[in-house]
Amino acid sequence: MKLSLLIAVLGIGCCALASASEPVWVQDLNVLADDMMEGREVGSKGSKRSREYLIQRYAEIGIEPLPALNNYGQPFSAIRKNKPLAGTNVVGQLKGELERYIIVSAHYDHIGRKGRRIFNGADDNASGVAAMLYLAAQSQQSGRQCHQVFLASDAEEHGLLGARAFVASDVVAAKSIFVNLNLDMLSQPGGRKEVLVSGNLSHPAFNGLIKDIELASNMPMIATDEKRRVGRYPSLTDRRKVSDHAAFAEQGIPFLFLGVGRHNYYHTPRDTASRVNQSFYGETVAIAWQYLQKLDALCAQAAEQP
Ligand SMILES: [Zn+2]
Repeated sequence: MKLSLLIAVLGIGCCALASASEPVWVQDLNVLADDMMEGREVGSKGSKRSREYLIQRYAEIGIEPLPALNNYGQPFSAIRKNKPLAGTNVVGQLKGELERYIIVSAHYDHIGRKGRRIFNGADDNASGVAAMLYLAAQSQQSGRQCHQVFLASDAEEHGLLGARAFVASDVVAAKSIFVNLNLDMLSQPGGRKEVLVSGNLSHPAFNGLIKDIELASNMPMIATDEKRRVGRYPSLTDRRKVSDHAAFAEQGIPFLFLGVGRHNYYHTPRDTASRVNQSFYGETVAIAWQYLQKLDALCAQAAEQP
């Protein structure tokens, strides 16, 4: 299915990209991290191809465009290092019953190519985007209480520009956003089996929620908001600022950020689909779905309070 869609979208001949027996999130990751996408650098042909693929997947899943936007694309422009930069987020929603929003985000851009070397960005962050698509499909099947917006952001690698443009645009009013669930790098344990979770201090209920999921999933969850050395990160890295959730945090919006942290393939041409740890990735995708369900329940509780 995904392979035929890719062939339709890209007009390519054939290949051994995805096999139908693989889980859907692996199929989506394989497409986004394929050489055809050329590392998904903002403004590139590969970026446009990735976006076309994402728009097809959004429509297929039943995600609707936001009323404030005409379609799934949210173009934005910015100045970066004294040069103009134009990017496009892919945004849509699944409506719930309550007038509060959960924004699930994952950046689809990566750092492109240097000469003939393609930086495929399989873990960073085809893995987060593919997980987000799975969450949307699951939510579409099982229902939800709060509205859910799915933000595949552009130009994260240039300073969280797409996420900042989304927050600044007010297409969803900041005051009606309950939480941002940000997914960035979920498929590469790099020798450790653990998930780093930031934002645990951004809402009083989050430490308990993280503990519950840790117990149920048997996956170590390393909460990172307290100042201490985490994993292979040097002590100075503040995980609250390293990805798109920071754009929400700056507006005082609670957030949870799931990711594995730096590993040996990070921002190298070796971050390829073939190096993804599929069994670990299957676990983190299931865990991300647990987070979204629990956040929806918390969101509904919060919406009922005056
Ligand atoms: Zn990333």
